[in-house]
Amino acid sequence: MLGLVPALAHAEWYQREEAIMGTRVAVELWSEDAALAARAMDTVFAEMRRTDELMSTYKPESQLSQVNAHAFERPVKVDREIIDVVTRSFEFSRMSNGAFDVTYASVGYLYDYRAHQRPTADQVAAALPAVDWRQVQVDPQASTIRFLKPGMRIDLGGIAKGYAVDRSIETLRSMGIAHAMVNAGGDTRLLGDRRGKPWIVGVRDPRNDGRMVTRLPLADEAISTSGDYERYFEEDGVRYHHILVPGTGESAREVRSVTILGADATQTDGLSTTVFVMGVERGMQLVSRLPGVEAVIVDRDGRIYYSDGLAPAE
Ligand code: ADP
Ligand code: MG
Repeated sequence: MLGLVPALAHAEWYQREEAIMGTRVAVELWSEDAALAARAMDTVFAEMRRTDELMSTYKPESQLSQVNAHAFERPVKVDREIIDVVTRSFEFSRMSNGAFDVTYASVGYLYDYRAHQRPTADQVAAALPAVDWRQVQVDPQASTIRFLKPGMRIDLGGIAKGYAVDRSIETLRSMGIAHAMVNAGGDTRLLGDRRGKPWIVGVRDPRNDGRMVTRLPLADEAISTSGDYERYFEEDGVRYHHILVPGTGESAREVRSVTILGADATQTDGLSTTVFVMGVERGMQLVSRLPGVEAVIVDRDGRIYYSDGLAPAE
C-alpha cells in the first residue's frame, strides 16, 4: 500500500505548447510517470516538427517545395508521409467532385493574405488550368509524385495538420498514454476521456472572438474547424480568405465556418475544408452520407446548422 502512494501522488496532467506549422500546437496528457510524460511530449513535438519540415510550402528546402519546383520535369521522390497525405486528399477530392483539391495552390500561391495581395482576373484565368488533382500522378511503389501539367503546385494546408495530430495520438497511444488531447490550430483529437469526464471542445463564433457557438462534450474523437477568419484581408467590403473554390480560384463565400466531428483528425481536417467549399446544402448532404461524421455550419448570414446526429448543446 505504501508503494502506491508516491506513484499516485505524481499522477497528473502534463501540458506543452509550441508554435509549429504556422500555428499553435498544444498537447495535454495524463500520466502517472513524469519521465514517460516528458518522453511522450518530446517524441510528439519532434514528429510534428518533422512533418512540418517535410510538408511546408514556406520552406524552399522542404520535400513538398521540391515537388512543386520539379514534379513537372520528372517524378520527385518523397517520404511515405507525403504519399499518404496526398493519396488521402484524393478521397476528399473524389467524394466532393473536386471541392477539395490540393492543387488549388496552383492559383492559391498568388494570394498573400498578410500583404493583402490577390491575383488579377487574368492571372487567375491563366493559373486555373493547373488546378486539377487528377493531373497529379502518385506512384506509391517508387514513392514519387509527378505533375502532368505545367504550373501545378500542391499545398497540404487543408489536411496536413489533421494528419500530424493523428500521428501524435497514435504515438501517445503506443507509448501507453490513455488520456490525451492534441490540438494544432483548428484541428483536435482526443484520446480517451478526461478521466471520467468528457473533454469539452468549444466551437468558435466566427465573428465574435472569444465567444462560442456551442460547446461539445467529446471522447475518443476528432474535431476540426475551418473558418474564414483564420487568414484573410478585406477590400471594398469583400473578404478574401484562405479557402478557395478550385473551379474559380476565388474565396469560398457560402459559409463562415464549418466544424466537423469524426473518428480521426485527417478526416475531420480534410472534410472541414471540403464542406466549407461545398456550402450548407451540398456539404450537409455529404456529411449525412458519411458514417460517424457530424457537422456544425455557420452560414454567411450567421445562421447555425447542425447535422442530424447532433442535438444542439445548451
Ligand atoms: P486552417 O486550420 O489552416 O484554417 P483549414 O482546414 O481551414 O486550415 O484549411 C485551410 C487551408 O486549406 C488553406 O490555408 C489552404 O492551405 C488549404 N486549401 C484552401 N482551399 C482548398 C481547397 N479547395 N482544397 C484543398 N485545400 C485547400
Ligand atoms: Mg481542413
